[in-house]
Amino acid sequence: ESIDIKTPSKQYPVFLGTQVIEQLPFFIEKNYSDITKILIISDEKVASIHLHTVKELVEKTGKQVLEYIVPEGEHAKTFDVFYQCQSFALANGLNRKSMILALGGGAVGDVAGFVAATFMRGIPFIQLPTTLLAHDSAVGGKVAINHPEGKNMIGAFYQPEAVFYELSFLHTLPEKEIRSGFAEVIKHALIQDLDFYKWLISEIQDLTAITDEQYLYMIKRGIEIKASIVQEDEKETGVRAYLNFGHTLGHAVEGLLGYGNFTHGEAVLIGCVYALKLSQHRVRLDFDVVEFTEWVQSLGYKTFIPKQLDHASLIQKMKKDKKTISDTITFVLLNEVGSPVLVEIEDGHIMKQIEEMI
Ligand code: NAD
Ligand code: ZN
Repeated sequence: ESIDIKTPSKQYPVFLGTQVIEQLPFFIEKNYSDITKILIISDEKVASIHLHTVKELVEKTGKQVLEYIVPEGEHAKTFDVFYQCQSFALANGLNRKSMILALGGGAVGDVAGFVAATFMRGIPFIQLPTTLLAHDSAVGGKVAINHPEGKNMIGAFYQPEAVFYELSFLHTLPEKEIRSGFAEVIKHALIQDLDFYKWLISEIQDLTAITDEQYLYMIKRGIEIKASIVQEDEKETGVRAYLNFGHTLGHAVEGLLGYGNFTHGEAVLIGCVYALKLSQHRVRLDFDVVEFTEWVQSLGYKTFIPKQLDHASLIQKMKKDKKTISDTITFVLLNEVGSPVLVEIEDGHIMKQIEEMI
Protein backbone atom coordinates (compact mmCIF):
# COMPACT_ATOMS: atom_id res chain seq x y z
CA GLU A 1 0.00 0.00 0.00
CA SER A 2 1.55 3.33 -0.98
CA ILE A 3 0.18 6.85 -1.21
CA ASP A 4 1.96 9.28 -3.52
CA ILE A 5 2.48 12.80 -2.26
CA LYS A 6 2.93 15.33 -5.02
CA THR A 7 4.20 18.80 -4.25
CA PRO A 8 5.71 21.32 -6.66
CA SER A 9 9.16 20.66 -5.18
CA LYS A 10 9.02 16.87 -4.96
CA GLN A 11 6.97 13.71 -5.35
CA TYR A 12 7.45 10.92 -2.84
CA PRO A 13 5.74 7.74 -1.64
CA VAL A 14 4.24 6.95 1.76
CA PHE A 15 4.36 3.20 2.43
CA LEU A 16 1.78 2.35 5.05
CA GLY A 17 0.95 -0.97 6.71
CA THR A 18 2.34 -3.81 8.78
CA GLN A 19 5.77 -5.08 7.71
CA VAL A 20 6.33 -2.20 5.27
CA ILE A 21 9.56 -1.40 7.12
CA GLU A 22 11.06 -4.56 5.63
CA GLN A 23 11.02 -2.87 2.23
CA LEU A 24 13.24 -0.03 3.45
CA PRO A 25 16.65 -1.59 2.60
CA PHE A 26 15.49 -2.49 -0.92
CA PHE A 27 14.12 1.01 -1.43
CA ILE A 28 17.44 2.55 -0.40
CA GLU A 29 19.52 0.15 -2.50
CA LYS A 30 17.37 0.70 -5.54
CA ASN A 31 17.09 4.48 -5.41
CA TYR A 32 20.19 5.65 -3.52
CA SER A 33 23.05 3.47 -4.68
CA ASP A 34 25.44 6.42 -4.46
CA ILE A 35 24.74 7.01 -0.76
CA THR A 36 27.55 5.74 1.47
CA LYS A 37 26.57 6.69 5.02
CA ILE A 38 23.19 6.54 6.72
CA LEU A 39 22.54 8.36 9.99
CA ILE A 40 19.53 7.22 12.01
CA ILE A 41 18.25 9.90 14.38
CA SER A 42 15.86 8.65 17.07
CA ASP A 43 14.84 9.54 20.60
CA GLU A 44 15.76 7.69 23.80
CA LYS A 45 12.44 5.92 24.22
CA VAL A 46 11.84 4.93 20.60
CA ALA A 47 15.47 3.88 20.19
CA SER A 48 15.22 1.59 23.20
CA ILE A 49 12.26 -0.23 21.66
CA HIS A 50 12.60 -0.11 17.88
CA LEU A 51 16.09 0.99 16.86
CA HIS A 52 17.65 -2.47 16.72
CA THR A 53 14.99 -3.68 14.26
CA VAL A 54 15.52 -0.72 11.98
CA LYS A 55 19.30 -0.77 12.27
CA GLU A 56 19.49 -4.45 11.42
CA LEU A 57 17.36 -3.87 8.36
CA VAL A 58 19.28 -0.83 7.15
CA GLU A 59 22.60 -2.62 7.61
CA LYS A 60 21.44 -5.03 4.92
CA THR A 61 22.24 -2.30 2.41
CA GLY A 62 25.93 -2.76 3.17
CA LYS A 63 26.27 0.97 3.77
CA GLN A 64 27.76 2.43 6.95
CA VAL A 65 24.97 2.96 9.49
CA LEU A 66 25.34 5.45 12.34
CA GLU A 67 22.92 6.39 15.09
CA TYR A 68 22.38 9.54 17.09
CA ILE A 69 19.95 9.55 20.01
CA VAL A 70 18.16 12.75 21.03
CA PRO A 71 15.98 13.40 24.13
CA GLU A 72 12.25 12.67 24.01
CA GLY A 73 9.52 15.08 22.98
CA GLU A 74 10.01 18.83 22.71
CA HIS A 75 13.43 18.47 24.39
CA ALA A 76 14.62 17.22 21.00
CA LYS A 77 13.54 20.39 19.20
CA THR A 78 16.15 22.78 20.59
CA PHE A 79 19.09 24.68 19.11
CA ASP A 80 21.37 22.64 21.32
CA VAL A 81 20.19 19.28 20.04
CA PHE A 82 20.15 20.60 16.47
CA TYR A 83 23.76 21.75 16.87
CA GLN A 84 24.80 18.43 18.45
CA CYS A 85 23.32 16.50 15.54
CA GLN A 86 25.23 18.64 13.06
CA SER A 87 28.44 18.22 15.05
CA PHE A 88 27.97 14.46 15.20
CA ALA A 89 27.39 14.35 11.45
CA LEU A 90 30.51 16.41 10.75
CA ALA A 91 32.65 14.45 13.21
CA ASN A 92 31.61 11.22 11.50
CA GLY A 93 32.39 12.41 8.02
CA LEU A 94 28.86 12.68 6.68
CA ASN A 95 28.73 14.57 3.41
CA ARG A 96 26.41 15.15 0.47
CA LYS A 97 26.44 11.42 -0.23
CA SER A 98 24.87 10.72 3.16
CA MET A 99 21.28 10.23 4.17
CA ILE A 100 19.30 10.74 7.38
CA LEU A 101 16.55 8.47 8.68
CA ALA A 102 14.18 9.98 11.26
CA LEU A 103 12.88 7.21 13.53
CA GLY A 104 10.28 8.50 15.96
CA GLY A 105 7.33 10.78 16.39
CA GLY A 106 6.79 14.32 15.18
CA ALA A 107 9.49 15.74 17.41
CA VAL A 108 12.20 13.51 15.98
CA GLY A 109 10.87 14.04 12.47
CA ASP A 110 10.95 17.80 12.91
CA VAL A 111 14.49 18.08 14.27
CA ALA A 112 16.00 15.34 12.10
CA GLY A 113 14.29 16.82 9.05
CA PHE A 114 15.67 20.26 9.85
CA VAL A 115 19.14 18.78 10.30
CA ALA A 116 18.78 17.12 6.89
CA ALA A 117 17.49 20.35 5.34
CA THR A 118 20.47 22.35 6.52
CA PHE A 119 23.42 19.93 6.68
CA MET A 120 25.64 20.91 3.73
CA ARG A 121 22.61 22.80 2.32
CA GLY A 122 20.43 19.72 2.37
CA ILE A 123 20.83 15.95 2.17
CA PRO A 124 18.10 13.35 1.57
CA PHE A 125 16.03 12.07 4.48
CA ILE A 126 13.40 9.42 5.05
CA GLN A 127 10.71 9.56 7.71
CA LEU A 128 10.06 6.43 9.78
CA PRO A 129 7.13 7.59 11.94
CA THR A 130 6.31 5.76 15.16
CA THR A 131 3.34 7.76 16.46
CA LEU A 132 -0.23 8.27 15.31
CA LEU A 133 0.34 12.02 15.26
CA ALA A 134 3.06 11.51 12.68
CA HIS A 135 0.39 10.84 10.03
CA ASP A 136 0.27 14.61 10.15
CA SER A 137 3.86 15.63 10.86
CA ALA A 138 5.61 13.20 8.50
CA VAL A 139 3.70 14.46 5.48
CA GLY A 140 3.91 17.98 4.15
CA GLY A 141 7.57 18.84 4.51
CA LYS A 142 7.50 21.21 7.44
CA VAL A 143 10.55 20.73 9.61
CA ALA A 144 11.49 22.88 12.58
CA ILE A 145 12.91 23.43 16.00
CA ASN A 146 11.52 25.66 18.74
CA HIS A 147 12.69 29.02 20.04
CA PRO A 148 11.90 30.30 23.55
CA GLU A 149 9.76 32.90 21.73
CA GLY A 150 7.59 30.23 20.18
CA LYS A 151 7.10 26.75 18.85
CA ASN A 152 8.47 25.82 15.42
CA MET A 153 9.85 29.33 14.90
CA ILE A 154 13.05 28.16 13.20
CA GLY A 155 12.58 25.77 10.32
CA ALA A 156 12.20 25.03 6.65
CA PHE A 157 9.96 23.48 4.04
CA TYR A 158 11.87 20.32 3.15
CA GLN A 159 10.25 17.20 1.75
CA PRO A 160 11.45 13.69 2.64
CA GLU A 161 12.43 11.14 -0.01
CA ALA A 162 9.84 8.73 1.35
CA VAL A 163 7.83 7.82 4.43
CA PHE A 164 7.78 4.25 5.76
CA TYR A 165 4.86 4.10 8.19
CA GLU A 166 5.17 0.79 9.99
CA LEU A 167 1.90 0.15 11.83
CA SER A 168 3.36 -2.44 14.21
CA PHE A 169 5.52 0.33 15.73
CA LEU A 170 2.29 1.88 17.02
CA HIS A 171 1.63 -1.14 19.25
CA THR A 172 4.03 0.22 21.88
CA LEU A 173 2.58 3.74 21.89
CA PRO A 174 1.21 4.89 25.30
CA GLU A 175 -2.48 5.84 25.45
CA LYS A 176 -1.67 9.50 26.05
CA GLU A 177 0.27 9.60 22.79
CA ILE A 178 -2.51 7.81 20.91
CA ARG A 179 -4.85 10.48 22.24
CA SER A 180 -2.51 13.19 21.05
CA GLY A 181 -2.36 11.80 17.51
CA PHE A 182 -6.04 10.98 17.33
CA ALA A 183 -6.87 14.66 17.82
CA GLU A 184 -5.20 15.43 14.49
CA VAL A 185 -7.16 12.61 12.88
CA ILE A 186 -10.36 14.25 14.15
CA LYS A 187 -9.12 17.61 12.87
CA HIS A 188 -8.52 16.23 9.38
CA ALA A 189 -12.00 14.73 9.32
CA LEU A 190 -13.65 17.96 10.50
CA ILE A 191 -11.99 20.19 7.92
CA GLN A 192 -12.47 17.91 4.94
CA ASP A 193 -14.73 14.91 5.21
CA LEU A 194 -18.08 14.48 6.97
CA ASP A 195 -18.26 10.74 6.18
CA PHE A 196 -14.85 10.18 7.72
CA TYR A 197 -16.00 12.07 10.82
CA LYS A 198 -19.12 9.87 11.02
CA TRP A 199 -16.94 6.78 10.67
CA LEU A 200 -14.69 7.94 13.51
CA ILE A 201 -17.48 8.78 15.91
CA SER A 202 -19.21 5.46 15.29
CA GLU A 203 -16.09 3.23 15.22
CA ILE A 204 -13.74 4.60 17.84
CA GLN A 205 -14.92 4.27 21.44
CA ASP A 206 -11.70 3.20 23.13
CA LEU A 207 -8.27 4.51 22.20
CA THR A 208 -6.53 1.44 23.61
CA ALA A 209 -8.51 -0.93 21.41
CA ILE A 210 -7.89 0.47 17.95
CA THR A 211 -7.20 -2.38 15.52
CA ASP A 212 -4.53 -2.37 12.80
CA GLU A 213 -7.31 -2.27 10.27
CA GLN A 214 -8.81 0.85 11.87
CA TYR A 215 -5.37 2.45 12.12
CA LEU A 216 -4.75 1.72 8.47
CA TYR A 217 -7.98 3.38 7.43
CA MET A 218 -7.71 6.47 9.64
CA ILE A 219 -4.04 7.10 8.90
CA LYS A 220 -4.56 6.61 5.18
CA ARG A 221 -7.51 8.97 5.14
CA GLY A 222 -5.68 11.49 7.32
CA ILE A 223 -2.65 11.44 5.04
CA GLU A 224 -4.80 11.77 1.92
CA ILE A 225 -6.54 14.81 3.34
CA LYS A 226 -3.30 16.43 4.44
CA ALA A 227 -1.67 15.59 1.09
CA SER A 228 -4.51 17.06 -0.94
CA ILE A 229 -4.16 20.34 0.91
CA VAL A 230 -0.36 20.41 0.82
CA GLN A 231 -0.34 19.54 -2.88
CA GLU A 232 -2.39 22.60 -3.56
CA ASP A 233 -0.37 24.86 -1.30
CA GLU A 234 3.09 23.60 -0.37
CA LYS A 235 4.37 26.83 1.19
CA GLU A 236 1.26 27.81 3.11
CA THR A 237 0.06 30.87 1.30
CA GLY A 238 -3.57 29.81 1.09
CA VAL A 239 -5.63 26.70 1.81
CA ARG A 240 -2.87 25.09 3.88
CA ALA A 241 -3.89 27.45 6.65
CA TYR A 242 -6.99 25.27 7.08
CA LEU A 243 -4.74 22.67 8.67
CA ASN A 244 -4.38 25.09 11.56
CA PHE A 245 -7.95 24.33 12.61
CA GLY A 246 -7.90 24.10 16.40
CA HIS A 247 -4.27 25.17 16.51
CA THR A 248 -4.63 28.89 17.16
CA LEU A 249 -5.94 28.40 20.66
CA GLY A 250 -4.31 24.95 20.90
CA HIS A 251 -0.77 26.27 20.48
CA ALA A 252 -1.45 29.02 23.03
CA VAL A 253 -2.72 26.51 25.62
CA GLU A 254 0.19 24.19 24.89
CA GLY A 255 2.73 26.98 25.12
CA LEU A 256 1.38 28.63 28.25
CA LEU A 257 0.95 25.46 30.26
CA GLY A 258 4.38 24.32 29.25
CA TYR A 259 5.00 21.24 27.21
CA GLY A 260 4.34 18.20 29.36
CA ASN A 261 1.01 19.08 30.92
CA PHE A 262 -0.98 18.70 27.75
CA THR A 263 0.25 16.85 24.69
CA HIS A 264 0.08 18.72 21.39
CA GLY A 265 -3.09 16.89 20.37
CA GLU A 266 -4.82 17.30 23.72
CA ALA A 267 -4.28 21.05 23.48
CA VAL A 268 -5.38 21.11 19.83
CA LEU A 269 -8.57 19.25 20.74
CA ILE A 270 -9.51 22.05 23.15
CA GLY A 271 -8.80 24.43 20.29
CA CYS A 272 -11.11 22.39 18.04
CA VAL A 273 -13.98 22.59 20.53
CA TYR A 274 -13.37 26.33 20.77
CA ALA A 275 -13.32 26.74 16.99
CA LEU A 276 -16.51 24.67 16.64
CA LYS A 277 -18.32 26.87 19.16
CA LEU A 278 -17.00 30.02 17.52
CA SER A 279 -18.16 28.64 14.17
CA GLN A 280 -21.68 28.20 15.50
CA HIS A 281 -21.80 31.84 16.52
CA ARG A 282 -19.92 33.43 13.66
CA VAL A 283 -20.65 31.40 10.54
CA ARG A 284 -23.74 29.51 11.62
CA LEU A 285 -22.19 26.06 11.64
CA ASP A 286 -24.91 23.46 12.06
CA PHE A 287 -23.22 20.78 14.14
CA ASP A 288 -23.94 18.76 17.28
CA VAL A 289 -21.16 20.08 19.53
CA VAL A 290 -22.67 18.35 22.56
CA GLU A 291 -22.48 14.94 20.89
CA PHE A 292 -18.92 15.76 19.85
CA THR A 293 -17.74 16.84 23.31
CA GLU A 294 -19.36 13.83 24.97
CA TRP A 295 -17.62 11.52 22.53
CA VAL A 296 -14.18 13.05 22.97
CA GLN A 297 -14.57 13.27 26.75
CA SER A 298 -15.30 9.54 26.79
CA LEU A 299 -11.99 9.11 24.96
CA GLY A 300 -10.25 10.99 27.76
CA TYR A 301 -9.94 14.48 26.28
CA LYS A 302 -10.45 17.68 28.24
CA THR A 303 -12.79 20.07 26.46
CA PHE A 304 -12.50 23.11 28.71
CA ILE A 305 -9.88 25.82 28.86
CA PRO A 306 -7.81 25.11 31.99
CA LYS A 307 -8.82 27.50 34.80
CA GLN A 308 -5.30 28.60 35.64
CA LEU A 309 -4.84 30.20 32.22
CA ASP A 310 -5.08 33.95 32.14
CA HIS A 311 -7.29 35.06 29.26
CA ALA A 312 -5.29 38.10 28.27
CA SER A 313 -2.12 36.04 28.02
CA LEU A 314 -3.95 33.52 25.88
CA ILE A 315 -4.84 36.25 23.41
CA GLN A 316 -1.34 37.67 23.52
CA LYS A 317 0.14 34.26 22.87
CA MET A 318 -2.18 33.72 19.91
CA LYS A 319 -1.02 37.01 18.42
CA LYS A 320 2.60 35.92 18.63
CA ASP A 321 1.80 32.84 16.55
CA LYS A 322 3.74 33.24 13.32
CA LYS A 323 0.64 32.68 11.24
CA THR A 324 -0.78 35.97 12.42
CA ILE A 325 -0.05 38.89 10.16
CA SER A 326 -2.31 41.64 11.42
CA ASP A 327 -3.26 42.66 14.92
CA THR A 328 -6.54 40.77 14.82
CA ILE A 329 -6.41 37.02 15.08
CA THR A 330 -7.55 34.91 12.16
CA PHE A 331 -9.28 31.65 13.02
CA VAL A 332 -10.05 28.67 10.87
CA LEU A 333 -13.80 28.14 11.30
CA LEU A 334 -16.21 25.70 9.69
CA ASN A 335 -19.17 26.72 7.55
CA GLU A 336 -19.99 23.05 7.80
CA VAL A 337 -17.99 19.92 8.44
CA GLY A 338 -15.66 19.65 5.43
CA SER A 339 -15.88 23.33 4.55
CA PRO A 340 -13.37 25.52 6.40
CA VAL A 341 -13.11 29.27 6.14
CA LEU A 342 -10.71 31.90 7.51
CA VAL A 343 -12.34 34.54 9.71
CA GLU A 344 -10.77 37.45 11.55
CA ILE A 345 -12.18 37.71 15.06
CA GLU A 346 -11.97 40.80 17.27
CA ASP A 347 -10.40 40.39 20.71
CA GLY A 348 -13.71 41.07 22.46
CA HIS A 349 -15.39 38.12 20.80
CA ILE A 350 -12.41 35.87 21.38
CA MET A 351 -12.56 36.74 25.06
CA LYS A 352 -16.31 36.17 25.27
CA GLN A 353 -15.96 32.73 23.76
CA ILE A 354 -13.07 31.88 26.09
CA GLU A 355 -15.21 32.83 29.06
CA GLU A 356 -17.88 30.40 27.90
CA MET A 357 -15.34 27.63 27.93
CA ILE A 358 -13.80 27.57 31.40
P1 NAD B 1 6.89 12.94 19.99
O1 NAD B 1 7.72 12.73 18.81
O2 NAD B 1 7.34 13.90 21.00
O3 NAD B 1 6.61 11.53 20.68
C1 NAD B 1 5.81 11.50 21.84
C2 NAD B 1 6.37 10.54 22.88
O4 NAD B 1 6.06 9.21 22.47
C3 NAD B 1 7.86 10.61 23.07
O5 NAD B 1 8.14 10.48 24.43
C4 NAD B 1 8.37 9.41 22.30
O6 NAD B 1 9.56 8.90 22.84
C5 NAD B 1 7.24 8.43 22.49
N1 NAD B 1 7.09 7.46 21.40
C6 NAD B 1 7.09 7.73 20.09
N2 NAD B 1 6.82 6.62 19.39
C7 NAD B 1 6.68 5.62 20.28
C8 NAD B 1 6.37 4.23 20.16
N3 NAD B 1 6.14 3.67 18.97
N4 NAD B 1 6.29 3.51 21.29
C9 NAD B 1 6.48 4.10 22.50
N5 NAD B 1 6.75 5.38 22.67
C10 NAD B 1 6.84 6.15 21.57
O7 NAD B 1 5.40 13.40 19.64
P2 NAD B 1 4.43 13.43 18.43
O8 NAD B 1 3.14 13.61 19.07
O9 NAD B 1 4.60 12.33 17.47
O10 NAD B 1 4.86 14.76 17.69
C11 NAD B 1 4.70 16.03 18.28
C12 NAD B 1 5.56 17.00 17.56
O11 NAD B 1 5.21 17.02 16.20
C13 NAD B 1 5.42 18.42 18.06
O12 NAD B 1 6.70 18.96 18.25
C14 NAD B 1 4.72 19.15 16.92
O13 NAD B 1 5.10 20.49 16.81
C15 NAD B 1 5.18 18.37 15.75
N6 NAD B 1 4.30 18.45 14.59
C16 NAD B 1 4.85 18.75 13.40
C17 NAD B 1 4.05 18.84 12.28
C18 NAD B 1 4.68 19.12 10.96
O14 NAD B 1 3.96 19.34 9.97
N7 NAD B 1 5.98 19.11 10.85
C19 NAD B 1 2.69 18.61 12.35
C20 NAD B 1 2.14 18.29 13.59
C21 NAD B 1 2.97 18.23 14.70
ZN1 ZN C 1 -0.90 19.81 15.12
